[in-house]
Amino acid sequence: MHNVLPNSHAFPYHLGRYCRKLGVDIRLNTRAKSLVKEGGRITGLEAEIGVEKIRFKARRGVVLVAGDYSASEEYKSEFVSEEVALVDAVNVTATGDGFRIALEQGATMVNAGRIRGPVMRFVPPPHTKFIQRIPPLRTFTRLMRWSFENLPDFFLRPFMMSFLTTALGPSFELTQQGAILINRDGYRFTDELKNQNMSVSRQPERLAWFIFDEDTASRFTRWPYFVSTAPGVAYAYLPDYRRTRPDLFVCVKTLDELAGRLGLPSDALKASIEAYNDNRSFKGIPGRGSRPAICKLPFYALGPAKSYIVFTNGSLRVSQQLEVLDGTGHPILGLYAAGSNGQGAMLLEGHGHHLGWAFTSGRIAGRQAAFCQ
Ligand SMILES: Cc1cc2nc3c(=O)[nH]c(=O)nc-3n(C[C@H](O)[C@H](O)[C@H](O)COP(=O)(O)OP(=O)(O)OC[C@H]3O[C@@H](n4cnc5c(N)ncnc54)[C@H](O)[C@@H]3O)c2cc1C
Repeated sequence: MHNVLPNSHAFPYHLGRYCRKLGVDIRLNTRAKSLVKEGGRITGLEAEIGVEKIRFKARRGVVLVAGDYSASEEYKSEFVSEEVALVDAVNVTATGDGFRIALEQGATMVNAGRIRGPVMRFVPPPHTKFIQRIPPLRTFTRLMRWSFENLPDFFLRPFMMSFLTTALGPSFELTQQGAILINRDGYRFTDELKNQNMSVSRQPERLAWFIFDEDTASRFTRWPYFVSTAPGVAYAYLPDYRRTRPDLFVCVKTLDELAGRLGLPSDALKASIEAYNDNRSFKGIPGRGSRPAICKLPFYALGPAKSYIVFTNGSLRVSQQLEVLDGTGHPILGLYAAGSNGQGAMLLEGHGHHLGWAFTSGRIAGRQAAFCQ
């Protein structure tokens, strides 16, 4: 893990401050729409601020850094599949605009269909957590860093849990050990052990709840049965969810109560669990196999959860100088790309590599655009 202290707002906050000090003109809420080409060269950019159109002239070049396409239904459908197009993105600003803008100028994509996801995550909490609101000031950061290095685990655990139960998804073990997935209509909709991530996206409102009983719940209170983890940092168990995510956690004595608390039809929920316990196929979904029945009181629910695409790895084809290349492999003069737009054929996998590439490539492309003719 490469976590930013106090939170990831520190990146735009500090970079923005530094850029403004250097006199960089930063325009917020301004959406780049298309490139301007004159004399065979990219010379500017057209953008929109609300309904107003604005044109920027580039002194030497334009660098595209508009992120990946995980939130573009059109591109997910074109590059991956119709099915994946239905899966939400974690990052709703990943519109794929940078690709669209460049493709219009004859650029090409490489590894277009490579994506991270779908993976299940619990929906975000209704209110931002305290840890997300800490201003990215040096004093707080130093204090946090000192605390992480010096304070005992029991003191730090609540902070860790707030991160683990907010930003991370449930472990596959939860369904393996006995939890089932129920949709908004109260029905099981998949063989949880086979394709739970993809099938959630086809459910009403694309939501699902994990339902289980005391037998499974009691297992998920200690190692090795954790609900979520950041490997090497900490593990979150069921009591951590009860404490830090009351919006996701339900524990009740009857299935009627469970349905009522989750706002699901009680009859459907009971019929689904009855069939599961009897190890019968119901509505085309197989029985429980060798998994335990859901019968020991109390009953529990965790959710709702959704499936998400975390990011996409495909990119514009670029040169080593991060010039955007056309279909014949020649640079589109005056056009550069960085970050997800300028990843080229690289498939980034390790922790921190995406952000590392965003910073490094931004610098390379920026220097090229500023200094090359
Ligand atoms: C949940 C999550 C966790 C991640 N964790 C890690 C991690 O731990 N380590 C790691 O290295 N990477 C991680 N990544 C990946 C990493 O965040 C991205 O790869 C990286 O931010 C890409 O940088 P970028 O500058 O290319 O795009 P972004 O950071 O996505 O920035 C693109 C910007 O362009 C803006 N934009 C889009 N369209 C337009 C337009 N038309 N006009 C103007 N602006 C536009 C967007 O609003 C956005 O601000 C994670 C991603 C997600 C979603």
